[in-house]
Amino acid sequence: MSYSIQDYEVVCTIGTGSYGICNKIKRKKDGKILLWKELDYGGMSEKEKTMLVSEVNLLRELKHKHIVRYYDRIIDRSTTTLYIIMEYCEGGDLATYINKMKNDGKAVDENFIWKICYQIVLALRECHNRHKNGGIILHRDLKPANVFLDSNMDVKLGDFGLARMLCSETSFAKTFVGTPYYMSPEQMNQMSYNEKSDVWSLGCLLFELCTFRPPFTANKQRELALKICSGRFPRLPTRYSDDLNKFISYMLQVDQAQRPTVEQLAVHSLLIKHVTPDE
Ligand code: ADP
Ligand code: MG
Repeated sequence: MSYSIQDYEVVCTIGTGSYGICNKIKRKKDGKILLWKELDYGGMSEKEKTMLVSEVNLLRELKHKHIVRYYDRIIDRSTTTLYIIMEYCEGGDLATYINKMKNDGKAVDENFIWKICYQIVLALRECHNRHKNGGIILHRDLKPANVFLDSNMDVKLGDFGLARMLCSETSFAKTFVGTPYYMSPEQMNQMSYNEKSDVWSLGCLLFELCTFRPPFTANKQRELALKICSGRFPRLPTRYSDDLNKFISYMLQVDQAQRPTVEQLAVHSLLIKHVTPDE
């Protein structure tokens, strides 16, 4: 039942991520196109390896139509490589999509934005409702690069906590090397993260789909923190409806108590009004 790397053929390299290469692969048995991430665990401590294994096990349990499906993991001890095999998303990631639209001088259609919003909400709801050792699964790194699109331009949320699990110290450092545009006020203040922080990040992502830039921008970390904590951001371009403005503002509330949960978003009348329910 278990596959080995010989059961797959590499079609091409998709890109190199922070932890290794992503290859488009073909399962020899039936020609199914998939993707694998190659991670070198050679330099990891036993503790990190244990965490990585449990994280991958967890990912394998997340089965949802809007979450990138994890298929398998293969360990090659001779090269200390872990292959994580997952669904291949033909439409690429949302960061690439945003860049392309921006460069082409096009605006993202509002209906598409509502659809993306709804499908991410459904994916996050699946995570936030799941209990693992009494805890819920938080995405923690919701951003355009981690939202994939299938051939129908439907959402597949990906990259769950892998970054976090792979050496927590490194990923902590990484967060602060890059500019954490989507970081919530509570994270900026106390480094705590909860399900409402994922909602904040979703608000940032939707804003970026409308304007091609994050709602809060600054050159320095300190300035960014101040802007984020002020909660003030520009209005969307006039082509976008008041409904969308209202819905995004609803997610970008500095006060966590005011900010909705994904459960509340999923049943919100504004969202229901603009999408075709798919569940
Ligand atoms: P990072 O570590 O920077 O997040 P990744 O390893 O996630 O990088 O991704 C590297 C490249 O592979 C990116 O261009 C990303 O869009 C692409 N990619 C990752 N996962 C998938 C997938 N499931 N389907 C299609 N492309 C993917
Ligand atoms: Mg990624």
